[in-house]
Amino acid sequence: MNLKDKIAEYPNFPKKGILFRDFSPILKDPSAMTVIADEFTKHFHPKNIDLFAGIESRGFILACILAARYNKGMVMIRKAGKLPGKTTKTSYTIEYGKDTIEIQKDIIKEGQRILICDDLLATGGTAKASAKLIEKVGGKIVGFAFIIELTELNGMKGISKYDCKSLVKY
Ligand code: 5GP
Repeated sequence: MNLKDKIAEYPNFPKKGILFRDFSPILKDPSAMTVIADEFTKHFHPKNIDLFAGIESRGFILACILAARYNKGMVMIRKAGKLPGKTTKTSYTIEYGKDTIEIQKDIIKEGQRILICDDLLATGGTAKASAKLIEKVGGKIVGFAFIIELTELNGMKGISKYDCKSLVKY
C-alpha cells in the first residue's frame, strides 16, 4: 500500500497559501492504520518505550494507535488550559505570536521513556517544544513518530538529536 495515496490535500486551508495535508483517509481505512503501526514497529523496539505522548489533537490519534499496538500507555500534550489538575507548561513562538502546550505534572514518572507522536512535522516548533516539556517533567525521550514530514521546512533539524521517523515525505 502507498500511504501517500491515503493523504488528502486541501489548498488554502486553514488560510490562503497553505496546502493542508489531511490523513483522514488513513483513519477511515483499517488496513492503512495497520500499515502505519507495522512501519513504526519496524523502527522502534517495544523494549525501549514506556509511554507514547500525543500532541493535540491529531497526534493523540497516532499515539493511541501505537500505544494499542505496543501495549503501552498514552499521555496527552495539550494546548494550554485544557488539562485538569497540576500542569507544567512550555511556550514557543509560532508564525504570528506564541503558543503554549502543557502536560499533567505527575503523569510521567522520572526516567520514563517516551515516544512523542504527531500527524505531521512542519517547521518542528511544536515538536521541539514538546520535547522540552517532556524533559521538564522528567521524561526521557526515545524519539518522534510522524506520519507526514514536510521536508522543505527542515523540522527535523531542531529535533535531530532524537531518533525520529516519518512515513510519508513531501
Ligand atoms: P510545526 O510546529 O512543525 O510547524 O507544525 C506542526 C503542527 O502543525 C502539527 O501539530 C500538525 O498537526 C500541524 N500542521 C501544520 N501543517 C499541517 C498540515 O498541512 N496538515 C496537518 N494535518 N497538520 C498540520
